[in-house]
Amino acid sequence: MKLTHPEAKPLKCDVCEYTSFVTAIFEKHKVRHQEVKPYVCNICKVGFNYNQSLKKHMTSHLGLTPYECKLCDKKYSKHDSLKQHMLRHSRDKAGKEKSN
Ligand SMILES: [Zn+2]
Ligand SMILES: [Zn+2]
Ligand SMILES: [Zn+2]
Repeated sequence: MKLTHPEAKPLKCDVCEYTSFVTAIFEKHKVRHQEVKPYVCNICKVGFNYNQSLKKHMTSHLGLTPYECKLCDKKYSKHDSLKQHMLRHSRDKAGKEKSN
């Protein structure tokens, strides 16, 4: 009689490509992904390990541009600027001619 080992399935990390057959080692690996990021941006909810990293990230929010053009990806911090920009779009449309 042959002893057949049941097909062991590796434990697969659902965060990265890591796999392991040893639970203890696998658990250790998973901890890596559970790093606590105490510094959370209150604007976009992204977490950071260091206050310094969060601070750096926050600077990207300083130039807030809430006025977005719906026709292209341009963003503006002032409504007036967006309005000016939109004028250009309508002009483009009006002045567009077939050019071959
Ligand atoms: Zn992983
Ligand atoms: Zn943010
Ligand atoms: Zn636009």
